[in-house]
Amino acid sequence: MATYEPVIGLEVHAELLTESKMFCPCAVVDATSAAPNQHICPVCTAQPGALPVINRQAVEYAMMVGLALNCQINRFNQFSRKSYFYPDLPKGYQITQYEHPIASNGWLDIEVAGSDGQVISKRIGIRRAHMEEDTGKSTHVGDASLVDLNRAGVPLLEIVSEPDFRSVEEIEAYARKLRSILQYLGVNHGDMSKGVLRFEANVSVREAGSNVLNTRTEIKNLNSIRSMVRASRFEIARQTEVYENGGEVKQQTLGFNEVTGETRSQRSKETASDYRYFPEPDLPPLMIDPAWVDELRAKLPELPDAKRGRFVTAFGLSEDDAAVLVSDKAIADYYETGLKAKGDPQKLANWITIELFRYLNEANLEITDLKVGPAQLVALINMVEDGQINNNTAKDVLAIMLEDGREAAPIVEEKGWGLISDTSELEAIIDNLIEGNPDPVHSYLGGKEGLLGWFIGQVMKETKGQADAALVRDLFAKKFDTLREQS
Ligand code: ADP
Ligand code: MG
Ligand code: ZN
Repeated sequence: MATYEPVIGLEVHAELLTESKMFCPCAVVDATSAAPNQHICPVCTAQPGALPVINRQAVEYAMMVGLALNCQINRFNQFSRKSYFYPDLPKGYQITQYEHPIASNGWLDIEVAGSDGQVISKRIGIRRAHMEEDTGKSTHVGDASLVDLNRAGVPLLEIVSEPDFRSVEEIEAYARKLRSILQYLGVNHGDMSKGVLRFEANVSVREAGSNVLNTRTEIKNLNSIRSMVRASRFEIARQTEVYENGGEVKQQTLGFNEVTGETRSQRSKETASDYRYFPEPDLPPLMIDPAWVDELRAKLPELPDAKRGRFVTAFGLSEDDAAVLVSDKAIADYYETGLKAKGDPQKLANWITIELFRYLNEANLEITDLKVGPAQLVALINMVEDGQINNNTAKDVLAIMLEDGREAAPIVEEKGWGLISDTSELEAIIDNLIEGNPDPVHSYLGGKEGLLGWFIGQVMKETKGQADAALVRDLFAKKFDTLREQS
């Protein structure tokens, strides 16, 4: 029987976190917490005669994203009216870029596991990115529907990929990378629970190796990367089954049911002519001065790939460690602030990616929620380096720091967890051990030097791991030297 492969193209809607909306001076606010309909005006509520004005900052943000995605920035820009009816779309149309988007023909490299498990890079084409405005939000309560227009007119950038994805792993890698680029650019904070990033997956399935683009379905309104992956996986399986049973996939728009994990038909797909696009008569074409583009290109911040490369070459981190650290801007910031506090690059990377990540996972927190700042973590790591505490104690100290936000030193002091580096105290323990274990001592002196580890282990046991191991090793060496001379 034939094997099938998925073909997927993604449309990502990113809110641009400007201060004001796309075409009016209303503030852009957190849609999940602001009181409804407080940030509205005649423009975004579509009062007759109100005129839109293009937000310069939104255009700038859109260009920054376009540049970061290796797109060409188009000089001639035009907005169009896309007509459709929805209760939270007061104008009855959305102002969007149709034939003349701000950015086109770019690409983004993603990293995915190859067939042999090695990480390989794959280039995904970016067809276009265009500016538009968000709709309001409807909430359904019993028989009633409530409309909040705070979000109406918030700037959106729609980023459309080529149908270049061949697996759900690839769309996940792309979504994560795109999200981190938007964060690095400072144009979107990436918090999907606030709806600032939304996905649409266009999914088709074909016989593996074929070049045709089969009929696709479009899954709308996916509010998280997880939902996008689940919905796409379901849809791939569904279409594969249709073909295996000799059927045909119908082109349609689907919704995703989070509870059942299934896609379901919302409507047959609308075509461009359904929207009756025409140029927005209230906005003149927007001409982008190439000098403006150059200025923005020069000002782009260091992006994840460049930062990853620098972490590898400048600090000797592994590609994997570096990739994890740059994947989220907040984590990269935490790491770099720790370096400024004189943290050892490799040790700091280990503590973040192992200890902090474990805690963040268990507590379901973000790195920005931590009570322990990078300088505090570095101070703890340096206590280990300076021989004040051992590595295991440091983990216990960190656990307390994460709970109450105190510095490491006072916790070590209060708990009496400092390493025992008092020579006479350690010597007393060592003398006792030597006296009480004549056989191992004899073997050691007879050449079984591997027994040194056992002796050190005994001291550790007695001191509950708090002895300064390096010092204990020195003291044993001296003791055995004296015993050798005496015999
Ligand atoms: P629309 O505006 O109707 O959504 P577009 O032509 O702009 O249509 O394409 C939208 C998305 O669908 C793009 O991301 C594109 O890569 C993807 N796409 C197009 N054809 C296919 C296909 N056969 N299978 C999967 N994805 C596709
Ligand atoms: Mg679409
Ligand atoms: Zn407004």
